[in-house]
Amino acid sequence: MDFKNYIRDIDNFPSPGVGFKDITPLLQDKTAFQEAAKALLKMVDNQKIDKVVGMESRGFFYGPILASELKAGFVPVRKLGKLPAETVAQTYKLEYGTDTLEMHKDSVQKGDRILIHDDVLATGGTAAAVCQLVERLGGSIVQCNFLIELDFLKGIEKLNGYDVRSLLHY
Ligand code: IMP
Repeated sequence: MDFKNYIRDIDNFPSPGVGFKDITPLLQDKTAFQEAAKALLKMVDNQKIDKVVGMESRGFFYGPILASELKAGFVPVRKLGKLPAETVAQTYKLEYGTDTLEMHKDSVQKGDRILIHDDVLATGGTAAAVCQLVERLGGSIVQCNFLIELDFLKGIEKLNGYDVRSLLHY
């Protein structure tokens, strides 16, 4: 299946000059939605995973599906101030300014085998911050798994040393 037929380009979203990859056509098609889940799962290649860590908010579409199929738990990473219990936080640089992501302190135990999942790997800042959070909690990152990688933004350079797999490349 050519999943790229279900990815829509939106110009100047969310700000002027940005080309946004919109995955909602993929999500709303009953066949493409399921086939993409299978393809993401295949990239994990039967490795043992204890927890899937998914980023707010588009990492929440496939993250829990992957977790369920892998018989793993699901851990949400959220923007600052959204998680109710005790958290660890990581601040990272954006093109203009900074952003902060949080995870619950008790969400990952030492030695947990972690699959990180998000919809898009762009500059890599988000994924690198999540890797730092997971490792600060003692997790071991098995793979960083994305639906889409924007190769020209070289996000992979921020994920040096990790097994990075993406279903679609642009
Ligand atoms: P990065 O930190 O620059 O790699 O950006 C990745 C984060 O921004 C991910 O959580 C994505 O959901 C989001 N993102 C960046 N570009 C796009 C896009 O073109 N489509 C959808 N999400 C995007």
